Formats: sequence, structure tokens, C-alpha cells
Amino acid sequence: MSETESIGFKAALEEAKKGFSEGGVPIGACLVDKDGKILGRGHNMRVQNSSATLHAEIATLETAGRLPASAYKGATMYTTLSPCDMCTGACILYKVSRVVMGENNTFVGGDDYLKQRGVEVVNLQNAECEQLMSEFIRKHPEDWYEDIGEPEKGHKH
Ligand SMILES: [Zn+2]
Repeated sequence: MSETESIGFKAALEEAKKGFSEGGVPIGACLVDKDGKILGRGHNMRVQNSSATLHAEIATLETAGRLPASAYKGATMYTTLSPCDMCTGACILYKVSRVVMGENNTFVGGDDYLKQRGVEVVNLQNAECEQLMSEFIRKHPEDWYEDIGEPEKGHKH
């Protein structure tokens, strides 16, 4: 990882840990532009805000605020976990050039679709990200399955 790369990922991981300490889904993200400047950062706020849509990547796009298309050109979305369909869609909509994820062992989102749409995808296979998610899923399965729009496993619905 280059120096610029590590800045974006470090911020995303810090955000994930912040989310974890708040009792939320521990996923963080950070958007870095082509010059290495952080445009926005955030973490999943579904539990904290009772929000249906504030995943880490969406929270990050929100803190970056309204931007012209040129701002996303060459930008990288760092996220501690493989992005879900909603966040994949947001990255494609704004033509973010790269998605760098911490891991995709606990959840696989739109990795293949991102690649199909010409977005460069990098998986860092980071053990710390995986451990945060594993612990959260074990302790709060109901919050996790709700986050990804699935019935809780092991329960009859
Ligand atoms: Zn998402």
C-alpha cells in the first residue's frame, strides 16, 4: 500500500472502530480524490440513527457533500467491507474509479458487478476488519441481517 493508500484505509478502519464502540455495525469508509485528499469519511449509522440507508459508504458520500462529477474522477472509496448492492450502486452512479475493501470473507457484495462496470477493485484481506465484523455478527446477528436486508439466520420466518 502506498502512503496515500494507507491514509484512506486507516481512516476507514478508524471509522469502523468508532462504529463498533458506539454499538453500531462496525463498517467504516473514506473517499479519497485523485490527488490523495480526503473528501469525506464516515461509518455505518443504521443502529445509531435508526436509519435505513446510512451504510458507511453512503455516510461518507454524505459528509463529502454535494460535489460535481469531476470530483469523483480518479477517486477511491475505501471501505472496511465489500460494499452491498446499494453502496455499489452509489459508487457506480458517481463513477468512483476504485473501490478498496478491507475484506470480503464475512460478506460479499457487488465486487463482480463493480469490475464489470469498469471500477478497479482491490481486496486488502485485512484481519482486523474481519475480526471486527465477525465479533459484531456473533454478538448482534439481528442487527447485521437487518443491515443487509435478510431474515436472521437460524430463525424461522
Ligand atoms: Zn452498503
